[in-house]
Amino acid sequence: MTDTTFDIIIIGAGPGGYVTAIRAAQLGLRTAIVEREHLGGICLNWGCIPTKALLRSAEIYHYMTNAEDYGLSAEKVGFDAAAVVARSRKVSGRLNGGVGHLLKKNKVTVIWGEAKVAKAGEVVVSTSAKTAMQPQPPEPRGASGPGTYQAKHIIIATGARPRVLPGLEPDGKLVWTYFEAMVPPAMPKSLLVVGSGAIGIEFASFYNTMGVDVTVVEIVDQIMPVEDAEIAGLARKQLEKQGLKIMTGAKVTGLKKGADSVTATIEDSKGQKSELTVDRVISAVGVTGNIENLGLEGLGVKTERGSIVIDGFGRTNVAGLYAIGDVAGPPMLAHKAEHEGVICVEKIKGLPGVRPMKKEHIPGCTYCHPQVASVGLTEKRAKEAGYDLKIGRFPFLGNGKAIALGEDQGLVKTIFDAKTGQLLGAHMVGAEVTELIQGFVVAMGLETTEEDLMHTVFPHPTLSEMMHESVLDAYGRVIHM
Ligand code: FAD
Repeated sequence: MTDTTFDIIIIGAGPGGYVTAIRAAQLGLRTAIVEREHLGGICLNWGCIPTKALLRSAEIYHYMTNAEDYGLSAEKVGFDAAAVVARSRKVSGRLNGGVGHLLKKNKVTVIWGEAKVAKAGEVVVSTSAKTAMQPQPPEPRGASGPGTYQAKHIIIATGARPRVLPGLEPDGKLVWTYFEAMVPPAMPKSLLVVGSGAIGIEFASFYNTMGVDVTVVEIVDQIMPVEDAEIAGLARKQLEKQGLKIMTGAKVTGLKKGADSVTATIEDSKGQKSELTVDRVISAVGVTGNIENLGLEGLGVKTERGSIVIDGFGRTNVAGLYAIGDVAGPPMLAHKAEHEGVICVEKIKGLPGVRPMKKEHIPGCTYCHPQVASVGLTEKRAKEAGYDLKIGRFPFLGNGKAIALGEDQGLVKTIFDAKTGQLLGAHMVGAEVTELIQGFVVAMGLETTEEDLMHTVFPHPTLSEMMHESVLDAYGRVIHM
């Protein structure tokens, strides 16, 4: 007989949901997870992972086309767009299968279908009404199906979907969201990307490297608006050097569709209008939480601007109901979703010393070329917060490993509270910085001061030496500049 009563039911098996389920099961809680479409959620199927697979193909293609810079020769360098996409889908499929295996290993019951919270402690699952974007992985074997299920604790982890702006409605053919952009049937010749957040810039970087004529339009006056302005400015320079066209302080006010092209009207900050005709448009204007059709209104769950309102432990205003991940608001990042979920179930279990989420310690990474990574306050926000600052900078040009790699463009910037030496923020642009940032995340988590960082030994030759030098620079002790 199918189990219908659990300690915890989680709705949504994205990185937030499935990690939460595994942790809950580890804690001895009888756990079920409901998913309507794909284990691994957006992250593994249509987000983090398949984009990185595409970007990896672009990166290798870039090195192949610049082989002579390394004393190598590569003739007839080209690509097969379908094979690039197929590799990305294969990577997703493999990880999706891995999530199924992990859930099974941890004895988490998987329920396949669309979930709704009928009342406190009760979830009703019906056959999924969602039309899945193709290709989708198969339904996991052995999953339970539609029915009524009970649990004392219900965690909503339903994620988010593309935000749609009036006049820029995606149609799946000429105007894409990240779904279509992930599986192009062929490379367009030209592309307009609306929005320069991480998603927009990653796709812009991918397509630009693959030879597409790409224009990015961003409404505010810098690309990657949440990043430190100096770092975003340096990234912009590098991207423009690679041929990307970028318009900031501008907005797309309308799209006129042709048979196989789109003409966009673009208005700059002075109200000046221009037109741009492209093969395809990617609308990357943000995401909004999947808060609808979950029964939240009936339960009186507080929502705000498309997200469920929670406290530092994922609790909503309704007892027994929790939310984590994208549906619980920004930053919309997989690692935030995972961590939020772990905190939530550890608190439910009553573990001692569970720490509430500290959003300012969540790193952000953009995997364009060059990469951008950051944690903590930007220079602007640190100033606005009233800190007296000490700022260190170290350019990739001064680092032996960066030069050996042929990646001498970039910067590591560190921001300290001049009074206490507390590390307030770290911001980087350049090769592999998404792998470096975690050093500063750990440092911030441990409340490390400039003294500790200056006394830390960094291996040579590594890009990480620039982290050390940046700290030294903040205190007038830089060596290699
Ligand atoms: P999701 O991953 O969205 O999962 C929610 C799940 O809930 C889905 O599987 C959905 O089918 C299911 N669901 C929804 N409603 C119901 C229901 N009623 N019943 C049953 N199931 C339901 N983040 C990073 O940290 N790093 C990156 O590099 C990165 N790159 C990205 C690139 C792109 C193109 C995109 C779009 C996003 C990227 N993100 C990245 C963001 C990341 O994907 C999300 O932050 C992450 O997936 C959020 O996890 P989640 O578990 O909250 O939700």
